[in-house]
Amino acid sequence: MSARAQIGVTGLAVMGRNLARNFARNGFTVAVHNRSVDKMRSLVADHGSEGDFVGAESLEEFVAALERPRKVVVMVKAGGPTDAVIDELVPLLEAGDIVIDAGNAHFPDTIRREAALAQHGLHFVGSGVSGGEEGALLGPSIMPGGSRESYETLGPILERISAKVDGVPCCTYVGPDGAGHFVKMVHNGIEYADMQLIAEAYDLLRQGLGASAGEIGEIFAAWNTGDLESFLIEISAEVLGHTDPVTGGAFVDVVLDQAEQKGTGRWTVQNGLDLGVPITGIAEATFARALSGSVPQREAAVGVLPAHAGTWEVPDRDAFVESVRRALYASKVVAYSQGFDQIAAASAEYGWDIDRGAMARIWRGGCIIRARFLDRITEAYERRPDLPLLLADPYFTAAVADGVPAWRSVVASAALNGVPTPAFSSSLAYYDAVRAQRLPANLIQAQRDYFGAHTYRRTDRPGTFHTQWTTDRTEVTA
Ligand code: NAP
Repeated sequence: MSARAQIGVTGLAVMGRNLARNFARNGFTVAVHNRSVDKMRSLVADHGSEGDFVGAESLEEFVAALERPRKVVVMVKAGGPTDAVIDELVPLLEAGDIVIDAGNAHFPDTIRREAALAQHGLHFVGSGVSGGEEGALLGPSIMPGGSRESYETLGPILERISAKVDGVPCCTYVGPDGAGHFVKMVHNGIEYADMQLIAEAYDLLRQGLGASAGEIGEIFAAWNTGDLESFLIEISAEVLGHTDPVTGGAFVDVVLDQAEQKGTGRWTVQNGLDLGVPITGIAEATFARALSGSVPQREAAVGVLPAHAGTWEVPDRDAFVESVRRALYASKVVAYSQGFDQIAAASAEYGWDIDRGAMARIWRGGCIIRARFLDRITEAYERRPDLPLLLADPYFTAAVADGVPAWRSVVASAALNGVPTPAFSSSLAYYDAVRAQRLPANLIQAQRDYFGAHTYRRTDRPGTFHTQWTTDRTEVTA
C-alpha cells in the first residue's frame, strides 16, 4: 500500500466515522481503520463518494498508508481501549510520528501517555473534541494539547476541519501534555452548570407562573435573541416546544426526572477540590444530577418533609420573566468565571501557560456551550490576560450589577416558596462572598487553632500565631 494518506482515523463508531468524513470532505486523503472491519467497510461503502478514503483492514496496513510524519487520530472508547490501541500502534510507528487521542480521556491519563510516547520519540496529542456527532461531521471545536512542534504539522489540518466563527477556526494550540483534555473537561463542567441553570429557570417559570412547557419554550426562544443567545438555550426552547407523539402532551412532561452523567462533570469537580478552586456552579450542577437520581432518598422525603411554603403568587408576569432572565445571566457569568479560574489555576499548577481568551474564542462555535457572550469573555482576557476574576472585568461587573436586585429577589422568592435553585442560589452566594470585605473565615481559623493548634495570622501584624487555649491563653509566635 502506498503511503499517500495525510491523516488516519482508527475507531470508526459515530465520532470517528464523522471525523473521518469531515477530513475527507475537506480534501484530505484519510486512511480509515476499525477493530471490527465491518465498520470500516460500511464507511467506505456509504460515504466513499464524499472524498478520498483509504480503507485498511489491519493496523499494519493502516500505518503503511500514512505519509510521514504519520498523523493517527485514535477515536475509540476512552480508558483501557485507548491504551490497548496505543500499545498496538507504537511498535508500528517511527520517531516524529504523531498520535492524536481525540476521545474523552481524563487528563492525568493524557499526561502519562504523552510521557510514555515521548520515550519512543513520538508526539502524543491529547485533544478535546466537542460538538457531538454533528460537530464531528460539520465542524467541531477542537482543543489539542501536546508539543507545540506537533501543532505546526497538525494544527493546519485540524483548523481546516473545525467550526469557524467569523472566519476564525474554533481550534488552537492549548498547551503541553494534558492541557487539551483538561480544557475539554472544564468545558464539559461548564456545560453541566449551564444546563442546570437553564433547568432551574424553567422550573421557576413553571412553578412561579404555572407556565406550560410550550409557553416556557417561547420565553426561551425570545431570550435567545439577546445576551443569552446560545446553543443550549436554543435547543431547550425546541425541546420544550416538542409534543410527545405517544400522549399528545408536552414531551418534557413525560421524561423521567433523573439526570445521568458520563463522568466529566465529576472529574471537573474532583479537580476543583484538588486545586482548591471554588467551582460552586459546576459542583452544584453535578450534585443536582446526583440528587435527582437518589431515588430511595427522594421516595423517603416526598410527601413526608413539610415545605412550610406559601402558594406562589407572582403579581407581574412580565417583570418576573425578566427577573429570571437577569438572574440566569448573572449566574451563568459566575459559572463561567469559576471555570476560567480553574483553567488559570491548572495552568499555573501544571505549567501549561493556557491563554484563556483563546479558549473562549474556540468555544464560540462547534461546541455545546457555544454562545454569544463568549466573545465578551475573549475581549475581557485580551484587555487583561492575567485578569484574576472574570466578574471583575468592567464589562461583566456592569452586566451582572444590573441584574443583582432581580437575582436576589428570584433566589429569595424561590426559597420562600420551596423551589430548589441550587445553582442560582450558590452563584449568588459566591458573588456575595467574593465581593465581601470580610468573611467569617476568621472564626474558622480561631476554631482550628483551638482544637488543633493549627495557628492563625492576624490582621494587625505579620507572622503566624497560636493561642495556648487550654492553659493561660497567652499568644505565642508559631
Ligand atoms: P465509543 O462507543 O466510545 O467507542 C466505540 C469505538 O471504540 C469502536 O470503534 C470500537 O471498536 C472501539 N473500541 C472499543 N474497545 C476497543 C479496543 N479494545 N481496541 C480497539 N478498539 C476498541 O465511540 P464514540 O461514541 O464514537 O466515541 C469515541 C470517543 O469520542 C470516546 O472517547 C468518547 O468519549 C468521545 N466523544 C464522544 C462524543 C459523543 O457525542 N459521542 C463527543 C465527544 C467525544 P469496535 O467497533 O471494534 O467495537
